[in-house]
Amino acid sequence: MAKYEISGLQCDKPGCNYVDPSIKLEDYKSYINYPCPKCGSSLLTQADYDTVQRVIAVTESIPHDPNDKTITSFSLDGSGELRIKDFHENR
Ligand SMILES: [Zn+2]
Repeated sequence: MAKYEISGLQCDKPGCNYVDPSIKLEDYKSYINYPCPKCGSSLLTQADYDTVQRVIAVTESIPHDPNDKTITSFSLDGSGELRIKDFHENR
């Protein structure tokens, strides 16, 4: 299994930079269409949630190379499109 880091939610509305890094992946389901405390737009769309579930399914289906310490960070913008932010070594 490859490693991934998924946690926290941020508001996707342009100009609103609300972010809650404390939200855990396992709590995402209860945040679908949860209104941003700052601007009221949805923090996590159903499309984004579905994408996250697909990413997890794909990631867990890849045999993990114990020597591969790469961690992939990505972001979602509300459309369900995944954007890779960066790859970095887990030290
Ligand atoms: Zn917002």
